[in-house]
Amino acid sequence: MEIKRVLVTGGTGFIGSETVIKLIEAGYDPVIVDNLSNSKDAVIGRIKTITGVRPTFYKVDCCDEEAFRKVFEKEKFQAVIHFAGLKAVGESVVKPIEYYSNNLESTLVLLKLMKEFDVRNIVFSSSATVYGVPKRVPLVETDPVGSATNPYGETKIMIERILTDTQFAWKDLNVALLRYFNPIGGHPSGLLGEDPNGIPNNLMPYICQVAVGKRDHLRIWGDNYPTPDGTGVRDYIHVLDLAEGHVATLKKLATDPGLVIYNLGTGKGTSVLEMVHAFEKATGVKIPYTIEAARAGDVATNYAATDKAFNELGWKAKYNIIDACRDAYNFQKKNPNGIE
Ligand code: NAD
Ligand code: UDP
Repeated sequence: MEIKRVLVTGGTGFIGSETVIKLIEAGYDPVIVDNLSNSKDAVIGRIKTITGVRPTFYKVDCCDEEAFRKVFEKEKFQAVIHFAGLKAVGESVVKPIEYYSNNLESTLVLLKLMKEFDVRNIVFSSSATVYGVPKRVPLVETDPVGSATNPYGETKIMIERILTDTQFAWKDLNVALLRYFNPIGGHPSGLLGEDPNGIPNNLMPYICQVAVGKRDHLRIWGDNYPTPDGTGVRDYIHVLDLAEGHVATLKKLATDPGLVIYNLGTGKGTSVLEMVHAFEKATGVKIPYTIEAARAGDVATNYAATDKAFNELGWKAKYNIIDACRDAYNFQKKNPNGIE
């Protein structure tokens, strides 16, 4: 089936906006639905500046079935990329009801409308967090789904299950579960990037805020892990690579594969200290840090096996962490108070 018009829920967010750009560049016709709970509508103008195309945008909450149905009535989608969701791990621990209801309800309403309007392709933003504590690395897609250490991660496990059950019952539906590793970086123009509310939980936005003087120093959570330098190891993937991975996945869905699961990572682990040094090298800015106690729930090492995505999608990451540090810093410098 030819896929052209694609509903992108959460399309003004960090990963969604970069994906919309890649979709436009690849000749797709993306339509964004976002309730702007964690992004700004100014993103639309920035996408236009970068691509020359202003994507259609609806400020609609995916949990609002009536409003969302009107979008489905108006547009004729062939596929959906479902980014919309709340994603802050720490916040999910203090607001479990909000996380379960927003993330699950938005997906259930979306699936109901997809069935009603016979939209047969969906790409879901899952996460490496579904593997729980890895028994071995690299993580392969056939490794068991574990249990998450927080409600955010649990919503990803539950939604993977909901989508799997739905695909089992509705054989014409194609589902891609994309398990992202650690997305970082930003658009090389400096127009788009990661813009977290409050104190960043994630490493890269925290480093960027230290670099521009918004935070005093980085606190490294533990240097006693069984890793080469003792600090935690993760698989950091440039958001542009991740965005390309979605375009490759849509091409795969057009071949009617049923349910498919892919890790989107680089296959390479980087420690916290290596990341600090890469950032300093990429930007020339020194990042002061202190070593603190390990953060509860953190695993020592986590990185992806990427062979499946390469073999079946022909996709692999092109950028390295130096590129990602440069692009993340560029966005931070140009947007000290986020996108306004
Ligand atoms: P983001 O917060 O920048 O983007 C999510 C977007 O969804 C935001 O623009 C927000 O306003 C919107 N949204 C939230 N609830 C909504 C609702 N009910 N209706 C409509 N819009 C809604 O986050 P991101 O980093 O771009 O992440 C996108 C997806 O990828 C999320 O599902 C996230 O859980 C997943 N993911 C992210 C990471 C990461 O580290 N950034 C890692 C793995 C998976
Ligand atoms: N980290 C850190 N200080 C911070 C934020 C993160 O030392 O302020 C470490 C964290 O312990 C982990 C790595 O950086 O080893 C990546 O953390 P992040 O929260 O970005 O990703 P996740 O742990 O969810 O994979």
